[in-house]
Amino acid sequence: MLVELKNTTKKLCVIGDPVLHSQSPLIQNTMIAALGLDYVYLCQPVPRGMCKPWLECAKFAGYAGFNATMPHKEELVPLMDELDRDAALIGAVNTVCIREGRAIGHNTDGEGFLRALGDLGVDAAGRTILVLGAGGAAKAVCLKLSQAGAKVFVCNRTVEKAAELCKHDPLGRLLPANFELETLCRLAAQADLLVNGTSLGMAGTGGQFDDFTFLDALPREAPVVDLIYHPAETELLRQARLRGHRTANGMGLLIHQAILALEHFTGVPIDAGEMGKLLQTVLRD
Ligand code: NAP
Repeated sequence: MLVELKNTTKKLCVIGDPVLHSQSPLIQNTMIAALGLDYVYLCQPVPRGMCKPWLECAKFAGYAGFNATMPHKEELVPLMDELDRDAALIGAVNTVCIREGRAIGHNTDGEGFLRALGDLGVDAAGRTILVLGAGGAAKAVCLKLSQAGAKVFVCNRTVEKAAELCKHDPLGRLLPANFELETLCRLAAQADLLVNGTSLGMAGTGGQFDDFTFLDALPREAPVVDLIYHPAETELLRQARLRGHRTANGMGLLIHQAILALEHFTGVPIDAGEMGKLLQTVLRD
């Protein structure tokens, strides 16, 4: 991939700790090249707790914006001059636009997930959804699912975290629960969709589900979505596929949140269907 650099080229980046594994530079520079935009997207390690000096530095250096990954999404919230509705709702910022020295915080994770569901032909309105996990990714997903009109059971190993997440829902459609097998079976039987927002099944240190028999209680028509995209098929997705469920991994979310972020940075509308196809090929290689 070749990005042409000029003196006028506007700078973007992703910050995180760690961040060198991030796919964002590949994704964003692919889109920038495909759209012929005068931007470049870099990878910038920023240690935990250093968002304030980084933001000053980014403003001074003339960055047009940046994305944030772990562990910076919450730390950025009070540093923003302006927050959009989703960033305020979710209490986390993954996209910062810098305009005339002002930092505007967005969160594209929740909307990115809803768009990925749309690609599967799933409309969350009126559905009952079982989400496993109550970490940062699950929070964005659950709050947007509620906003989209779904009732969501939020099952988490640390049930207090699920309860805390549910308190943030202004619509009261999120219901906390524990992660016991019996609970998962009972709630799966009522679900139209199951989403894994835990790190169980992730390559590396993600760990694994002890038991998949809760999938036997899930109605066959209910799709199973994993937010994890590495590996491309987690054991949860494999078990669901073997039981006849439609499945999808987290690649849809990864792609849609990035497309939405680039639209915020540049103001250029992007054909998500066409761009998604291009990104799928780049990320598969
Ligand atoms: P996080 O904030 O660290 O949350 C991790 C979640 O996993 C928590 O709910 C945690 O439960 C649960 N968990 C961890 N180990 C567990 C175990 N042994 N048994 C049961 N639950 C366990 O992480 P995150 O940022 O939300 O990310 C979660 C997953 O989503 C990761 O695998 C990540 O790769 C994926 N993700 C994908 C995208 C994408 O673009 N597709 C974006 C963001 C994240 P406790 O609260 O009890 O610890």
